[in-house]
Amino acid sequence: MARPKVFSGPDDPRLKRALCIVAHPDDIEFYCAGAVLRLTDRGVPVAFHVATSGDKGTRDASQAPEAVARTREAEQLAAARLLGVTAVEFGRHPDAELVETLALRGEFVAAIRRARPDLLLTFDPTPGYRYHPDHRVVGRVALDAAWPAARDPLTFPGLGSPHETAEAWCFGGPAPDLELDVSEVLERKIAARLEHRSQTGSAGQLRHRWRAIAAIERFHRVDLR
Ligand SMILES: [Zn+2]
Repeated sequence: MARPKVFSGPDDPRLKRALCIVAHPDDIEFYCAGAVLRLTDRGVPVAFHVATSGDKGTRDASQAPEAVARTREAEQLAAARLLGVTAVEFGRHPDAELVETLALRGEFVAAIRRARPDLLLTFDPTPGYRYHPDHRVVGRVALDAAWPAARDPLTFPGLGSPHETAEAWCFGGPAPDLELDVSEVLERKIAARLEHRSQTGSAGQLRHRWRAIAAIERFHRVDLR
């Protein structure tokens, strides 16, 4: 039997549900918010699972991590609303301390079995040096959770009914094979990014820069069928 072809893009009618698994509030806005908008604009439900609440995301040593986390969760929820997403979960792991564990794989399996996506959007775990370790860990563990863990009934029993995710689109990697033009939704993507006020210096400069660089999103597709 011929293997099914990978999705042509966000408009592929076989793509009916999607899940983003990321490390930090604002990862989605950086890497795949245009894809999310193109999905939600045509009525595809998208869910977010954010493994940390970004509690180390400041250069101000006087701030308490708990306060940073509260701010960043609120910013992520506001950004998600602009992206047409209401299903947002936080794993609340300490920022910058994610490691590959079976417990984290189980957490992602449960998220996949709840959201039941055709498409998983997550980090490409393959880049080498100077890559945020949380990004590498999330990409690796999310892919391991999607295939085969979430699919197989004897793996993580009790964490929801098994689910086969058709495909993953991995961002941030060295060998993208899908280039997505999101210029039609670029202003809304930038608006979502700007909801992360604690992570924004000059909104004007960011808007200017992103108009030049953020209209194309790149993914490496992984067939999980
Ligand atoms: Zn990040």
